[in-house]
Amino acid sequence: KVKELGGASYCVFSSEMNEEVQRRLLIESGLRRALERTELYLVYQPYVDLQTSNIVGHEALLRWNHPDLGFVSPVEFIPVAEETGLIVEIGLWTIREACRQTKLWQEEGHQDLTISVNMSGRQFQQQNLVETVRNAIASSGLDPAFLTLEITENIAIHNERNVMTKLQELKDIGIRIALDDFGTGYSSLSYLGKYPLDILKIDKSFVQHSYTDSGEKEIVKTIIAMAHSLKLKVIAEGVETTEQLQYLEQERCDVVQGYLISRPLTAEDCGAFLRSKRHDAR
Ligand code: C2E
Ligand code: MG
Ligand code: MG
Ligand code: MG
Repeated sequence: KVKELGGASYCVFSSEMNEEVQRRLLIESGLRRALERTELYLVYQPYVDLQTSNIVGHEALLRWNHPDLGFVSPVEFIPVAEETGLIVEIGLWTIREACRQTKLWQEEGHQDLTISVNMSGRQFQQQNLVETVRNAIASSGLDPAFLTLEITENIAIHNERNVMTKLQELKDIGIRIALDDFGTGYSSLSYLGKYPLDILKIDKSFVQHSYTDSGEKEIVKTIIAMAHSLKLKVIAEGVETTEQLQYLEQERCDVVQGYLISRPLTAEDCGAFLRSKRHDAR
């Protein structure tokens, strides 16, 4: 009897494994063709300056519509793109496309609009990263001062000196650097003094608990104060309620991003949203 049960559970286990492996293979092979088949596209999530209430920029976020699997989340496919190295090509395309779109919006009259693009650690292992990024921006015609690259704390696990050098070279071009998901990594504090950062993004897990949980509230307040004393701008991500917004305003957070302002939008919807905001301001 025991043997029977063991056999049965083994079968279930193996067919589940099979499904997972198959999906992973589909994603991997699909990703190789996704760019040329234009299955990948960008959505843009606006962020707002709390002093002026203006949209001052967008974060570009990758989306993938797979012909068989349907919508696949970046949380699932970005790690595969990183492991296979495909993120290098996809990442460059993302910079080029996001800068091109932002240049268009600037020409429509939103002259100071910025754009933020997420970077993987894998991209920093490329010898020619800085040169290829420079070319990608140049092909769009965007002034590099309007581009922010978002990195996370795990970017420099392997080769800290290499990452540091590249970040400084990117900054020398005029690009801004933001530390994303701050507070979720393992070495948060040591990063702040060491890396040439311009912006700190407070992770949404802190922002979203800051209304209900007094401990988290103190953490958000302390992060903002600390960032400001290091001359960093602070963006709060994942702002969903007016209570969260009011607290962030009270604590002098610089910029907010989240569903309360807008979900990530297609380029087309984003353009319309920008135009409607400009009407508001008049
Ligand atoms: P991230 O860079 O921290 O991006 C923020 C994520 O939070 C996005 O999820 C966004 O849609 C979501 N978000 C924004 N506002 C809210 C809110 O108010 N509430 C909640 N619950 N969520 C909110 P998304 O688009 O699924 O992206 C997930 C992650 O995938 C990103 O986290 C980033 O790490 C990665 N990713 C996305 N696009 C790229 C890319 O082009 N390159 C790289 N390397 N990574 C990317
Ligand atoms: Mg980000
Ligand atoms: Mg983030
Ligand atoms: Mg995040």
